[in-house]
Amino acid sequence: MKYASTRSIDQTKTVSAAQAIKQGLADDGGLFMPLEIPSLGMDEILALKDKTYVDRAVYVLSKFLDDYTEEELRRDCEAAYGETKFPGGAAPCVSIDGRIYALELWHGPTCAFKDMALQIMPRLLCRALDKTGEKRDAMILVATSGDTGKAALEGYCDVDRIKIKVFYPVDGVSRVQKLQMATQGGSNVDVCAIHGNFDDAQTGVKKIFSDAAIAKTLDGEGVFLSSANSINWGRLAPQIVYYVSAYCDLLKSGAVKPGEAIDVCVPTGNFGNIFAAYIAKSMGLPIEKLICASNRNNVLTDFLRDGVYDRNRKFYTTMSPSMDILISSNLERLLYVLAGAEKTAGYMRALSQDGRYEIDAETKAKIGENFLGYFCDEELTKATIRDAFDQNGYLCDTHTAVGLAAAKQYIAEHGGDRKIVLASTASPYKFANDVYTALTGKKAADELAALSALAAYTHTEIPAPLAGIDTRPVRFTKTIDASDMPADVLAFAK
Ligand SMILES: *Cc1c(COP(=O)(O)O)cnc(C)c1O
Repeated sequence: MKYASTRSIDQTKTVSAAQAIKQGLADDGGLFMPLEIPSLGMDEILALKDKTYVDRAVYVLSKFLDDYTEEELRRDCEAAYGETKFPGGAAPCVSIDGRIYALELWHGPTCAFKDMALQIMPRLLCRALDKTGEKRDAMILVATSGDTGKAALEGYCDVDRIKIKVFYPVDGVSRVQKLQMATQGGSNVDVCAIHGNFDDAQTGVKKIFSDAAIAKTLDGEGVFLSSANSINWGRLAPQIVYYVSAYCDLLKSGAVKPGEAIDVCVPTGNFGNIFAAYIAKSMGLPIEKLICASNRNNVLTDFLRDGVYDRNRKFYTTMSPSMDILISSNLERLLYVLAGAEKTAGYMRALSQDGRYEIDAETKAKIGENFLGYFCDEELTKATIRDAFDQNGYLCDTHTAVGLAAAKQYIAEHGGDRKIVLASTASPYKFANDVYTALTGKKAADELAALSALAAYTHTEIPAPLAGIDTRPVRFTKTIDASDMPADVLAFAK
């Protein structure tokens, strides 16, 4: 399987999957995409029906990563999705009301769906170093506003030939997030707080990435810098698997018959998760509509309705922060598939120059055949959390609630009776304060108190990765100025 850039006119310029994973971004700034989408027949889906998540993952991933042996993929999938990391199963599909099914992607080490990709991607990267003949080791640098940092730390922890260093703004993350990172285990990890806000941390990391002198010094140490960015193909491919797995589970429980179409609804930020569902559909999984759910930052809702992507708008901070995004990077992959590399390169140029682009009518029609967009404000998010719990006994987090509200708007507009698989992207405990307030109208004293208050009110258990977080040994206490970040990185490389 060959991969090319979404912006390259010359589509004969290709790389292997391992090279795409090692490189992350193409040289021209585009994203890597397979030249062809492999197919998945109903006979194959039926054969996966009674298999474990690990088996399903090996089968689907091997279609895209054909320079990895089946045995390599099996080892990596077992390490990533086995009982140790996902006790009780990786991606259960739970009925909310008989029509909408929650595909729960948050049973991993950090209680959010980023684990589904970040548990396996580091293992794929480690193998990519060997496969591409890379002699140096990789150092992953991450600037985080909270969740991605922890998920990356858990994913890269103790992976061979890779070190990871995470910077976070000292006053920009919650107490639980800070504790999650400061108590991280592993011999190849480092965590450092920065005086300043998230932008200061992010700018600092970007500067280090573009500093030729730092690259040279690191090269002398046998190290190169790499990112854990969500546009890496190694993060996207593993997300295709759970849509196939959800369909298998629906078949198994008798909720759908072989070949019966479903809809998929995804609370969306960077467009990675929903694009993975689109690829599953392109492979042959019987998905009819893809429902793209946004919060108040509804740039995608407008795009799907009007064909105009316009990031020149007010940015809102919401209770679903992982969806507070105005540039959905993975949308570029959809444009590439539907409009080709030349047009995509033009759209992306317009986006960076004017913050805006308009797609042609043909591309807009193709998108409309597959995608529908809805959004949900803060009040509706809270009401949806409350209704799901009071009426269906289903406890959902703020992001999943945005998706659930979108699915309900879709049903109200279109009726029908297709089953809807809703990507449930975080444990309600990950956003315990807002969920507790949505349910009770009350505020807990702080986030730690919210964990126990939510457990008491809902008679559910605090997930193991978050329980007792304040009693674990703190390993990382350093806070530095952003200007000292380069020195800190060089010291860690030694
Ligand atoms: C990252 C994230 C999302 C958005 O996913 P994209 O792939 O960026 O669209 C939604 N919910 C949660 C909880 C997330 O962490």
